[in-house]
Amino acid sequence: APTVLWFRRDLRLADNPALGEAVGEARAEGSDVVGLYVLDPALWATAGPVRQAYLARSLRALHASTGGRVVVRHGDPRAVVPAVCAEVGARSVHVAASYEPYGRRRDDAVEEALATAGVRLRRTGSPYAVAPGRVRTRGGTPFQVFTPFRTAWLEHGWRAPAPLPDDVAWAALASDGLPDAPEPGARLPEAGEAAALARWRAFLADGLADYPTDRDRPDLVGTSYLSPALKWGEIHPRTLLADLASAVRSGAVPEEAAATYRSELAWREFHADVLFHHPGAARRSLRTVVPEDAWATGAAEDAMLAAWREGRTGYPVVDAGMRQLLGTGWMHNRVRMIVASFLVKDLHVRWQRGAEHFMAHLVDGDVSQNQLNWQWVAGTGRDAAPYFRIFNPVTQGQKFDPDGAYVREWVPELRGIAGKAVHEPWKLAGAAPGYPERVVDHALERKVSLEDFERGRGR
Ligand code: FAD
Repeated sequence: APTVLWFRRDLRLADNPALGEAVGEARAEGSDVVGLYVLDPALWATAGPVRQAYLARSLRALHASTGGRVVVRHGDPRAVVPAVCAEVGARSVHVAASYEPYGRRRDDAVEEALATAGVRLRRTGSPYAVAPGRVRTRGGTPFQVFTPFRTAWLEHGWRAPAPLPDDVAWAALASDGLPDAPEPGARLPEAGEAAALARWRAFLADGLADYPTDRDRPDLVGTSYLSPALKWGEIHPRTLLADLASAVRSGAVPEEAAATYRSELAWREFHADVLFHHPGAARRSLRTVVPEDAWATGAAEDAMLAAWREGRTGYPVVDAGMRQLLGTGWMHNRVRMIVASFLVKDLHVRWQRGAEHFMAHLVDGDVSQNQLNWQWVAGTGRDAAPYFRIFNPVTQGQKFDPDGAYVREWVPELRGIAGKAVHEPWKLAGAAPGYPERVVDHALERKVSLEDFERGRGR
């Protein structure tokens, strides 16, 4: 009987251990592999046009790389997966395990539905180098803090990349067809496994050596831009980690640069681990830092949120970031931190509202990475920036966009201002026609936030 490989957020063939398992089992049975993708309306509806478009393109690439054999079925996986198994007589379904709250619930329900028909759900691998929940303190408890987590994660280590099975016999089966996605309006990176690998190789050759110095500079192309590919599993972090190790061994890149990049991947694994242990963190703060009445409400909140979302707060680097998000479905990490801090600590809007906007527009939008990074900035996470550390949007802009090129790229109203003066357009009367006034005074709101924090501490 054929086996089923159910693709979810692992839209690749290379370094895909679940595929290896499915192929091995099918071969032993003298049969083939059904490559299944279930278009789950519950997930599709929440993906938003940007991720819908990216996913549709990624599936198209996967479909092409299997010789047109990806079987797409639309519907609730709890019904669809058992139905496909019944249709072909499969006795096992192979997946990479899911660790987010929705994926865990879905997989447990599918497993149960399959079991009643005598079919096994077999989980091999995960979207991470080390599965969430694995890395523990000596006492067996989860880590609360990033740095010791990273040390233990490095010590734990990971498997070598799984070999690419040759000549996979993909089964031909009726398909509901690839999803139609609306044109997103944002300029997205090229989707698919081949594009992800090409991007990674180019970065390894040309970008990684300067990564430690350039990664905080939104005006440069200083990062790998692999977050969409990691989110959708077009490339596995194990592949990246193995390539880093061999690039260091061959002398192609300095260990310091590789270590910095590895550390960013460790953050990704840490956030997934925290969400695994605290599924409620997707919605609720892991700790409370300011009193309830600190937050803007009603029309005031709506007005602040609208100015922030549309990139018209009057603070250039904030507005540039928010417009980059709408224009490309991506925002530089340094700027994500600046705009998130600004929303929470200058506009006094709860992090959940900002996270929601990010999830609606990010091509790499991922519940563990997004929610936990927001909690980190808001000071409510397990290992978070202290609440009293409040980014100054002007000095952050001057430091990380020193010539103002990033701001001028995304805020056309400011193109007439040369150099770093672009970060304080209010100092040059009439130089920025059409650019909004500042919605708040940072110095003042900073004080308000610090007072809120003091009041919160007393409780
Ligand atoms: P690089 O600098 O090239 O880093 C390589 C990889 O390391 C990234 O692709 C990513 O997987 C990982 N990484 C880097 N920085 C972080 C970080 N701070 N936390 C976790 N992993 C990291 N990342 C997402 O993938 N999805 C999100 O939804 C998301 N939301 C965020 C929200 C906020 C408020 C903040 C501050 C950060 C968020 N990030 C998110 C993390 C980070 O901004 C992006 O991963 C990064 O900008 C992606 O660009 P890159 O691939 O060029 O990064």
